[in-house]
Amino acid sequence: MLRAPCLRQSIPILVSELSILTTSHEAVRARSAPAAAWQKELRGAIRDPLKLCQALNLPRELLRTATAAAPGADFPLFVPASFLRRIEPANPRDPLLLQVWPAAAEADPAEGFTADPTADGTFALAPGLLKKYAGRALMILTGACAVHCRYCFRRHFPYEDTPPSETVWNDALAAIQLDSSIHEVILSGGDPLTVTDARLARLVGRIAAIPHVQRLRVHSRLPVMIPSRVTGDLLDWLAGTRLAPVMVIHANHAQELDAEVAAALQRLRTAGAMLLNQAVLLRGVNDSVEAQAALSLRLLDLGVRPYYLHQLDRVRGAAHFETPVSEGRAIMAELRRRLPGYAVPQYVQEQPGAPHKVVLG
Ligand code: SF4
Repeated sequence: MLRAPCLRQSIPILVSELSILTTSHEAVRARSAPAAAWQKELRGAIRDPLKLCQALNLPRELLRTATAAAPGADFPLFVPASFLRRIEPANPRDPLLLQVWPAAAEADPAEGFTADPTADGTFALAPGLLKKYAGRALMILTGACAVHCRYCFRRHFPYEDTPPSETVWNDALAAIQLDSSIHEVILSGGDPLTVTDARLARLVGRIAAIPHVQRLRVHSRLPVMIPSRVTGDLLDWLAGTRLAPVMVIHANHAQELDAEVAAALQRLRTAGAMLLNQAVLLRGVNDSVEAQAALSLRLLDLGVRPYYLHQLDRVRGAAHFETPVSEGRAIMAELRRRLPGYAVPQYVQEQPGAPHKVVLG
């Protein structure tokens, strides 16, 4: 989450160590344990624009507006069934559809849009470990995700350089151990919750054994994309750690937050996790006061604090999502008029080299 030269343009589609490994975007069954419901859903995700059109009864002309993001492409379409159910059929402008539809505009050249807009590559403390801000370190656990968000700032990240392996994690943990200023470890990716609970439990146990680490933050879209991912095993390791757990979900629109998601979030709260939301301001998706107000209020109803509204990171292929900062500021001003202060997220931008996220107003 979720925030990545290959320039191979790709987040590997599938799940590391969840009985599936990724090889050139092909799923390979690799373990004998029966798959959980969420794992089956990942395997069954739609990867073909034509199939998505059929499933949603979308006009076939829409296919002409798709990139070649079919199976086998570098950053292919990838949509799980539970998210699909929340997309309004026959509506090409649905705000959830727009987040996953591989628009032809992705191929348009756009000045200032690059492969690594947040300069992740310059903040590596160890392979798979970034330290951008004081006191915090971010582990890139995997390149796998439950959905391919077309605006993803890590869509070109060289995940193959740091495959999800205990060896890579050993080096990252050793670096954390050596740096006593790190009091918070952030699990990121890709989506860290695509990793199995058994491995996550082991990893979190090892992080908790480092005395100077006090907090564990998990950035994941999975509780929203596939709510069944919030399993009893997940709750066990989350509730069982001595670390204070924070879960940042990445919802961009109130329509994403249906009853199943609400129940999953409730389970996370019961396990003691502080829940925060981080959204991205996206043209055509949530670039209105109404959409932002509805998102904030729905989040509050579900016990999630609206935390950040991010200005789009200028990643190559996502220029069509960009909303001018002036419009973002106008939306924020109106939100402040309409909502209680605790319902208004901070409007921020990541500026590489800045010591913190920069507040835009
Ligand atoms: S869940 Fe979406 S935004 Fe997060 S890393 Fe994956 S593709 Fe990017």
